Amino acid sequence: MSAGKLLMVGAGLSGAVIGRRLAEAGYEVTVVDSRTHIGGNCHTERDSDTGVMVHVYGPHIFHTDDAEVWSYVNTYETFLPYKNRVKTTSRGQVFSLPVNLHTINQFFDKTLRPDEARAFITEQQADTSITDPQSFEEQALRFVGKDLYEAFFKGYTIKQWGCQPSELPASILKRLPVRFNYDDNYFFHKYQGMPENGYTAMIGKILDHPGITVKLETVFDRAQADQYDHVFYSGALDGYFCYELGRLGYRTLDFERFTYDGDYQGCAVMNYGEEDVPYTRITEHKHFSPWEDHQGSVCYREFARAAEPGDIPYYPIRQVAEKALLGDYVKLAEATRGVTFVGRLGTYRYLDMDVTIREALDTAHGFLDCIERGVPVPAFCVSPV
Ligand code: FAD
Ligand code: UDP
Repeated sequence: MSAGKLLMVGAGLSGAVIGRRLAEAGYEVTVVDSRTHIGGNCHTERDSDTGVMVHVYGPHIFHTDDAEVWSYVNTYETFLPYKNRVKTTSRGQVFSLPVNLHTINQFFDKTLRPDEARAFITEQQADTSITDPQSFEEQALRFVGKDLYEAFFKGYTIKQWGCQPSELPASILKRLPVRFNYDDNYFFHKYQGMPENGYTAMIGKILDHPGITVKLETVFDRAQADQYDHVFYSGALDGYFCYELGRLGYRTLDFERFTYDGDYQGCAVMNYGEEDVPYTRITEHKHFSPWEDHQGSVCYREFARAAEPGDIPYYPIRQVAEKALLGDYVKLAEATRGVTFVGRLGTYRYLDMDVTIREALDTAHGFLDCIERGVPVPAFCVSPV
């Protein structure tokens, strides 16, 4: 006998991971998604002409320090070694990112060793008068100085976020390290890799359980909630409430797809640091699967802009005005029974895949714990504010 009926709104990582855990606990789980495919924004699809595995909603690289999450994804799919080595074009040259010893030596036309480079940046470039950087700009000026900031970060960030870096929180830049050695791995996590057959194949296996029914091209509306004992909602938080308090701000992306016969740029990701190049980066998808061999190539030029109604919301903006509105939506959500808001959109936070999976596993565990103790299930597993 079923332990109860649950609805997952969204067939991305959040809906799939929570749904699987709770189906294993004996629940009858329905997963709906408005799209024609499972996988959410991690969706991958093989291009029929070239055979290239395309990251349809932008490049996704798996990286984590969470051993349990790494073990979880490896249960469902073989992960092959992949290191993200990003390049950036600026001032007529190609440089290595994140800023490392190669970048510094090339940019300043020097042959510094690690200690010398550290001393050079700290003593001659960094603005040490900034003791507690608050904004993105202050963080950059404090740690790499004006020259590197203007070449690699200022223009890119204006394009990506549509505002001045002085208006953005320092936390956005803190995601990127500065290295005084030749390590050009974009991430510093212990476990990194790429699913051999793409993310959609992996999420398909997570959803492949007799207790789970998946319904695609199915849009959730609140009236459906009554048919279930509980709803896990990974759509947009403001969307659940029909935007009744206004819209939370997002950046969206436009991908200009093009194909090429051969190797277009020689790497997976080429950023463009200057403001007068209208796109932020070009991704060449076959390089995300370096173990495969394809003559043809599929590339995306990526343009960022403010999301309008109907656009796919990608990056939550989370500036002061949005945070105030978020607080009001959180109050509405907390007053709503029978729904848990999860994932990137449900909690209006930028979440990497590993964090999404960690929170999904914790949410499923927390739900079972509440049921066992007979206490109400909270609206959020992790507070979005
Ligand atoms: P989503 O993947 O957004 O899934 C939500 C699903 O809900 C969607 O399929 C949507 O169609 C559906 N939905 C919404 N509303 C409704 C409704 N009303 N009715 C029915 N269905 C609905 N993470 C990394 O770890 N590494 C990376 O390199 C990386 N790159 C990224 C690049 C970009 C451009 C972006 C935007 C994100 C990136 N991420 C990356 C983050 C990653 O995409 C997220 O961690 C992950 O997608 C979150 O999964 P989710 O299930 O919470 O949300
Ligand atoms: N960034 C930049 N130049 C680059 C790459 C990144 O200025 O070449 C800034 C940009 O503001 C971006 C932030 O650093 O939003 C974080 O970079 P990350 O690569 O983590 O961006 P994401 O994966 O979120 O697109």
